[in-house]
Amino acid sequence: MIDQSIASLAKKLRDKDISSVELTQDYLARIKQLDGQLNSYITVTEEVALAQAEAADKLIAAGSTSALAGIPIAHKDLFCTDGILTTCASKMLYNFVPPYESTVTARMLASGAVTLGKTNMDEFAMGSSNENSHFGAVKNPWNLDKVPGGSSGGSAAAVAAGLAVAATGTDTGGSIRQPASFCGISGLKPTYGRVSRFGMIAYASSLDQAGPMARSAKDCAHILQSIAGFDANDSTCSEVATEDYTANLDAPLAGLTIGLPKEYFGDGLNNDVATAIQDAVKEFEKLGAQVKEISLPNLNLSIPSYYVIAPSEASSNLSRFDGVRYGYRCEEPKDLMDMYKRSRGEGFGKEVQKRIMVGTYALSEGYYDAYYLKAQRIRRLIKEDFVKAFEEVDVIMGPVAPTTAFGIGAKTDDPIAMYLEDIYTLSVNLAGIPAMSIPAGFADGMPVGLQIMGNYFAEAKLLNVAHKFQQATDWHTKTPSLVEGA
Ligand code: GLN
Repeated sequence: MIDQSIASLAKKLRDKDISSVELTQDYLARIKQLDGQLNSYITVTEEVALAQAEAADKLIAAGSTSALAGIPIAHKDLFCTDGILTTCASKMLYNFVPPYESTVTARMLASGAVTLGKTNMDEFAMGSSNENSHFGAVKNPWNLDKVPGGSSGGSAAAVAAGLAVAATGTDTGGSIRQPASFCGISGLKPTYGRVSRFGMIAYASSLDQAGPMARSAKDCAHILQSIAGFDANDSTCSEVATEDYTANLDAPLAGLTIGLPKEYFGDGLNNDVATAIQDAVKEFEKLGAQVKEISLPNLNLSIPSYYVIAPSEASSNLSRFDGVRYGYRCEEPKDLMDMYKRSRGEGFGKEVQKRIMVGTYALSEGYYDAYYLKAQRIRRLIKEDFVKAFEEVDVIMGPVAPTTAFGIGAKTDDPIAMYLEDIYTLSVNLAGIPAMSIPAGFADGMPVGLQIMGNYFAEAKLLNVAHKFQQATDWHTKTPSLVEGA
């Protein structure tokens, strides 16, 4: 059962080949058996899952048509889940049990999905390798010596290893797409504002966006259908109408124009990754698409501008963790100042502290214009590059990351090398457009993800393009041997 799609499991549940309780038990057993090697979960919610599965079985018996009813999924541990520990992989929130439910998880619950647990991640979603977790690094199921990508590394590893049918992730600068690419699964970062951020612990509010991570584009479409749409609890959530994201998956691609930005194929891109991407593009040509070279000239400025804007917003968002209201408080503080200082000093990990300092510096008087405002101006240029490109092409394709998954520890001492991993993903968040990563081959035995970027609110088009590729190829059906050996 573990390599099946949401649609095929939904059919089995409806045909009574299996119950949601049985399916959930299967997944819980696999988590027990295999997650010791991967560390993809922070919390497994066995009792909650079984109770939800029982309820889902009743819903299905009563004729529910929801594709997600009874499907066991996992949530990144930054979605607040009512009554369930939510840590953001930080010591700061080691004991935080939210009194409310995020919109994303609430909508999936309303669709009848079963919550297996909360997945590991980089602390406060800051990272590209899932090595910055208070609960330890996550391993890549394709090779346990390699990182799964980050920050949604737990979600990606769990789905790739069959420890959840699908999962939620969040993407501030690539955190859905890059781990999806490193673990060989499909992931979608929606348009900024397509999905509510209510109840998502904030990293950089103008960039954060939640989305699905699953075994196929079609599975992503089912999840997006559940979570997309206006929410009065998030003032940045868009009122643009949602579409039926599964209706046009099979639409032919004849006449589609694909833009290939020359900057995405320059120095720094691993040759084998480049070859896999070029082969994937050829597959699209066979499906009737035309290819056009384009330019996104400000790509190189995405790293400096993102690494000013994201830490600035983070420094402001994370000021709420003061040891007073919730979360970690240091032992025996001398006075109020001592409590603030030591609670934050002891509660936040190194990468988080570094970003708070960078952000506070960039926002401070005298530096605001020089750094933050300048970064915002560059952001505007990056957005304009995309707007111009989409006047000529329907979608843009390129690699997700310059390399496949790297070794655990390989980049931890070199923050610049780590930040450079994000070169192909950050500009999408700065512009606010949607983008996917789908499996497109292997290099050196590790999965390679193809990135497909779309115009604002063109999620249905992206899913259609990705689905047609997955109908013509079988990269997305490959599973790591950890799975086969189980
Ligand atoms: N790697 C990027 C960062 O560390 C992106 C993280 C994310 O998308 N949450 O900021």
